[in-house]
Amino acid sequence: MTRLNPKVKLTVATVGAWMRLFESEIGRAEPELTELDRAIGDGDHGVNIYRGAQAVVAKLDEVAVPNLFAQFRTISAALTSSVGGASGPLYGAFFLQASQTVPQKAEVSLADLAALAEAGCQGVVKLGKADLGDKTMVDTLHAAVVSLRDSCHHHQSLPGALAACAAATLRAAEATKPLVARKGRASYLGERSAGTQDPGATSAHLLFLSLARAVPASDFSSISPSTESDPL
Ligand code: ADP
Ligand code: MG
Repeated sequence: MTRLNPKVKLTVATVGAWMRLFESEIGRAEPELTELDRAIGDGDHGVNIYRGAQAVVAKLDEVAVPNLFAQFRTISAALTSSVGGASGPLYGAFFLQASQTVPQKAEVSLADLAALAEAGCQGVVKLGKADLGDKTMVDTLHAAVVSLRDSCHHHQSLPGALAACAAATLRAAEATKPLVARKGRASYLGERSAGTQDPGATSAHLLFLSLARAVPASDFSSISPSTESDPL
């Protein structure tokens, strides 16, 4: 197990790097997300979420955010206002509710991050009313929360926890493939929605993969190598 490295925390700079990596990950995955949404939706998820990620980066370049609270609210507003589909307000709700957990904080520890992800996931559930297993982004977001809580419990370092979280969210996104959708456009297809991985669950994995990559690799140098398989 990776030893605790209390020096590694999330800051405004790290979250800025996270959003830039998210934009490039989504840009790279856009054709795949489009393909998934074409199979069980209306084919716009790749374009929607790439537009949202670009809007987030543009907004963060334009305004100087003084703290994490303002930064998360800025991200939320950019996503909600720029993404046409259902996923924009849902991701917006994630960052809006997440912001409520960081009002006074200049930096975020692993325990804070787990609480932040949990609040964000609850925000998505409150807005979209999806349950676990309904074949939506909630399946992935919930897996992230469980993984971060588990890493916290085992006193993992933040980089180790984020690597485990990236792997857990990949498994959760892939696990949506055989499911029948019960929320969103894909639910209109009924049984025919089974056999395609959910596009929103897939982009939610890319959100956490980007977060894992945003934590500087050099932060691994002072801690022992993780025994987990590297998902990155
Ligand atoms: P739209 O369905 O309006 O075209 P997108 O294609 O951008 O929007 O996003 C589709 C994704 O949004 C789905 O793959 C699913 O993960 C997510 N989604 C849709 N409805 C809900 C909901 N009620 N709760 C949670 N996630 C949802
Ligand atoms: Mg769509």
